[in-house]
Amino acid sequence: MNPLVQLAAPTASNLDAHNPPEKELIDDCVHCGFCLPACPTYLLWGEEMDSPRGRIYMMKKAMQGQIPLDTTFQTHMDNCLGCMACMTACPSGVQYGKLIEDTRAQMERNIPRSTGDSLFRKLLFATFPYSGRLRLLALPMLVYQRSGLQSLVRKSGLLKLLPARLAAMEALLPRVPTRLFSKLPPAVDADKPGRRVGMLSGCVQQVFFQHVNTATARVLAAEGCDVIIPEDQACCGALMLHSGLDQEAAAKARKLIAAFESAGVETIVINAAGCGSTMKEYGYLLRGDPLWAARAEAFSAKCKDISEILAELPSRTPMHPLPMRIAYHDACHLRHAQGVFEQPRALLGRIPELEVATVAESDICCGSAGVYNLLHPEPANALGDRKVKNLLAIEAHAVVSANPGCLLQLMNGLRRQGMHAMPTFHMVELMDASMRGLTPEQLLREQDRQR
Ligand code: SF4
Ligand code: SF4
Repeated sequence: MNPLVQLAAPTASNLDAHNPPEKELIDDCVHCGFCLPACPTYLLWGEEMDSPRGRIYMMKKAMQGQIPLDTTFQTHMDNCLGCMACMTACPSGVQYGKLIEDTRAQMERNIPRSTGDSLFRKLLFATFPYSGRLRLLALPMLVYQRSGLQSLVRKSGLLKLLPARLAAMEALLPRVPTRLFSKLPPAVDADKPGRRVGMLSGCVQQVFFQHVNTATARVLAAEGCDVIIPEDQACCGALMLHSGLDQEAAAKARKLIAAFESAGVETIVINAAGCGSTMKEYGYLLRGDPLWAARAEAFSAKCKDISEILAELPSRTPMHPLPMRIAYHDACHLRHAQGVFEQPRALLGRIPELEVATVAESDICCGSAGVYNLLHPEPANALGDRKVKNLLAIEAHAVVSANPGCLLQLMNGLRRQGMHAMPTFHMVELMDASMRGLTPEQLLREQDRQR
């Protein structure tokens, strides 16, 4: 057990005393079951303990000392994607996000994992949150892809011999950009002094989706913002927080807060939904830290998704036609965790000749969910296939989302369906293309050059 964690005073609870899920939040659940049809794991398996209601019930029983923190408990909590679709569906306002985060932190402290599972998780958390390490690791991957070895290996069937998690890693690897070490400048100015905003460059985003960051900064500047991209910013801690590593996530949060405080910005813009939802919850994450709680609250209040800020700003750049029919996929951490649903649609609606088609089951997760698709490839692929089937049913020219994790998951799902050539875009790339008067073909060529 973590030595910093105080042992609970004698009580029947099987949870330790460090931020256990709050009883009042557990008691908000009235067991009505409205959340069940919204829950992807319940849809997959029809198992009550893999539903939001079942998981909250297990938390309550563990809190009352009636069930142990054991591998059964761990499995059902691990199976949760953290997609927060249950929060959107719940009429009682149950704050499931807080409950699952506190529960997972309890699990990481109190339920041992197998050596293999533990090592794999350590590998993920030692690489993904560090853009420098990711770049170094991506170098051999660049050679693997550009030499043609990747397509040979994929065709040979060799990947089927790999353990499922390693095979998932290979399958999810995006096209590595040739300008792997290029970075955005520390500031991108509007043509006349404007609103001073900070921008998160992200970890995976700044390595594999540099073109999305470039488009984000350009669109913000075009709409009158001076964009500050602090060089000392690092990972927001989302992957750790969603996996129960609350102390590690808190340490990342403190560093990020300090970096943006020094930048003196009035708004912090995020173009990755998973990061945005975590940064908006820093106040809760650091609630027990007297030195940081107020700073964390103030920081969270400044955070906005790129679609929120663009929808707020008076539109000043003319939009040119972009004749395409697109399938827009809602990232769960945008729609459910942040409640951002209308804004991306309103922004895409400003683009002349762009048709946004309605996708069936748009509120169901694609299976990405942070590192869920690496830790649980089988259900993640089942959800990915279900999502891609719905996206393809509307015969769109491209798939659009607002989260790097979803884009990777959708690209992988499209490949499994033989749809390698289907383009995928972040919403802000379309805004940028329309502002610059690019045709769909020019946009595709540009994306291809940048990747
Ligand atoms: S989480 Fe909400 S919707 Fe689900 S059972 Fe509890 S009260 Fe009902
Ligand atoms: S977060 Fe998603 S997977 Fe987890 S219980 Fe809620 S709806 Fe189900």
